[in-house]
Amino acid sequence: MSDKNINELARIIQNRAQQFGADLSGTVSIEDLKHSPSHEISGKMPVFNGVGTKDVEGRKRGIVKWPDGARSAIVIAVEHSPEKPEMDWWVTTGASTGNTAGNRLMIHIVSKLAAWLEKEHGIKCFKLPYHVEHGGIYMKDAAVLAGLGSIGKNNLLISPRYGPRLRLRVILTDAALQTSGPIEFAPCENCPMPCHPACPQDAFARQIYSAEKYGQEELPATNGIYDRLRCNQQMIIDESNIREVKNSNQEKPQKLIKYCRECELACPVGSV
Ligand code: SF4
Ligand code: SF4
Repeated sequence: MSDKNINELARIIQNRAQQFGADLSGTVSIEDLKHSPSHEISGKMPVFNGVGTKDVEGRKRGIVKWPDGARSAIVIAVEHSPEKPEMDWWVTTGASTGNTAGNRLMIHIVSKLAAWLEKEHGIKCFKLPYHVEHGGIYMKDAAVLAGLGSIGKNNLLISPRYGPRLRLRVILTDAALQTSGPIEFAPCENCPMPCHPACPQDAFARQIYSAEKYGQEELPATNGIYDRLRCNQQMIIDESNIREVKNSNQEKPQKLIKYCRECELACPVGSV
């Protein structure tokens, strides 16, 4: 396929993803993605045993296993507005156990997009799970390279339009698609950083990662001031605070986990 056709296809895919319900989308080549900060640093960091990580035989935690034949990634993002907190409440009972409304929406978009790509363009798709140990990748890095936004000092993807209030999913494809980003966007410059004092665990209290130690300038939360163990401590607390919630269309109340979003909701970008 010519460069012109590759560019055109990437644009068509982005438009179609948004027709299927994504608020933002973009594309990135796997070769670019392999050299992104999280994919580079993950092998150098101590093994993380936090919430959501799992042991998988033959796999080192945190290291991505790229599927054979994958050449590019499509990133989709869905807005997670403060007015819809239920979008990422984790259901712990009934048929939806282990899922969220946001996940279900993104699975729906990804499924429609993959079916369309395979039928209309003969492009093979690899739908990825969330966790790296189960075949996922570092989605925030993919989103940055695809031009959806930049990493902020709260260690989240910050988009110009939605700030950090986004949820991400990625599909890999065997098509060689053009990388659609990154964009020039520095939201944290001159910001008084309300995200840092908002953290109930003081996860932004000190520098954990340095360029000297890890051999790269791009660090978690941009400057290494982020303690994922403290954030994980809050997740453990959140999981111990399961609440029963009953919606009008449900017979029985559901038991839900509401994970902390304080550093996300404190960020002013995209909120006006
Ligand atoms: S609150 Fe300010 S410093 Fe924190 S992520 Fe948002 S823009 Fe960056
Ligand atoms: S999610 Fe909550 S606990 Fe984790 S870093 Fe953000 S504010 Fe702190």
